[in-house]
Amino acid sequence: MKVETHVDLSSSLSFHVPALATHYVQVDTDEDVRDALLYAQRNRLEILILGGGSNMLFHNDFQGLVIQINSKGIHVLIDDGRRLEVAVEAGEDWHEFVLKSLENGWGGLENLALIPGCVGATPMQNIGAYGVEIKDVFSWLEAIEVSTGLLKRFNLKECKLGYRESVFKRELKGEWVIVRVAYRLDRESTLKTSYGSIENEISDINKNELTHLDVANAVIKIRNQKLPNPNVLGNAGSFFKNPIVKEADFNSLKEGYPDMPHYILEGGLVKLAAGWLIETSGWKGHHRGTHGVHEHQALVLVNHGGATGQEIWSLAQDIMLSVKEKYSIQLEPEVNQISMSTT
Ligand SMILES: Cc1cc2nc3c(=O)[nH]c(=O)nc-3n(C[C@H](O)[C@H](O)[C@H](O)COP(=O)(O)OP(=O)(O)OC[C@H]3O[C@@H](n4cnc5c(N)ncnc54)[C@H](O)[C@@H]3O)c2cc1C
Repeated sequence: MKVETHVDLSSSLSFHVPALATHYVQVDTDEDVRDALLYAQRNRLEILILGGGSNMLFHNDFQGLVIQINSKGIHVLIDDGRRLEVAVEAGEDWHEFVLKSLENGWGGLENLALIPGCVGATPMQNIGAYGVEIKDVFSWLEAIEVSTGLLKRFNLKECKLGYRESVFKRELKGEWVIVRVAYRLDRESTLKTSYGSIENEISDINKNELTHLDVANAVIKIRNQKLPNPNVLGNAGSFFKNPIVKEADFNSLKEGYPDMPHYILEGGLVKLAAGWLIETSGWKGHHRGTHGVHEHQALVLVNHGGATGQEIWSLAQDIMLSVKEKYSIQLEPEVNQISMSTT
């Protein structure tokens, strides 16, 4: 384990904003994680866990120890010929693992293809796309406690996975380092094709011959058309969560905006489309020189080149204010805001 100082993180961040870490270390094993935590404790350093850097916005430099998870390994723990339990080290690239699972004929992850980032972050916000979330395939995860170095296994219930949520983003924020995640996969799992334009993409394939890989290829094609590639245009995917409101509030909004897209949830709640709220507040394609709102996806804020995290955050705040003024809805960022309290 080698701690480096004054490390430029920008190439590890999908937003490509400037950000230095006063201390930085890459960890490959559980023992490395414990050593890094001990180092931070002894030197009174704040810590920040970094995976693929695709769901973060640094507002400024990080005065502390950034621990980048680089552990590798995919282990089949159970295989009854149809169903499997597969444990994956936190530093594995998510999309690479999805492709590997499809190569092996393991179903369940196809709708989650091409989501950037590492395995360890997948339960953090219960990643989801095209009608599937991690909680649908989650078995357990193991994490190391920051304060004690102890390893604990968390089951599905303990992780409290919800819409872009988990216990690790709320009650246990900053307390655990996720070191591996186990998924339940199924060679014969039902294909989920009703979401978005997947059906259109697979219309040429005979329904009886449709495979998990066909669905993944459809998802990859749609995502490539719809979302900017962070290697070309800095971004962190959807910047805001889709807001969830009470049915009564939705009904009064609907009177003024009958076309408002919505999705009825259980418990008298309604999910609204943040992208629509932002677009109809006039922000789609908004340009502020170095940064702005994507021209085709109002939910995606972009760094055209040379923007700072603070500039992008300032734009995000302006958008939140304008949506609040127009619709009385408070948008919440989906992207993790990394802001040192000292500055
Ligand atoms: C173009 C694009 C498209 C996207 N599409 C989607 C999508 O469809 N659905 C979706 O849900 N998300 C999407 N995202 C967001 C992002 O890809 C996911 O949230 C991803 O899981 C983040 O992984 P990461 O390794 O990059 O996490 P990072 O950005 O490195 O970290 C995210 C958070 O998790 C914490 N963290 C990371 N690893 C660990 C660990 N091992 N232990 C403890 N804490 C940890 C970090 O401290 C941080 O708070 C998209 C992003 C981009 C850029």
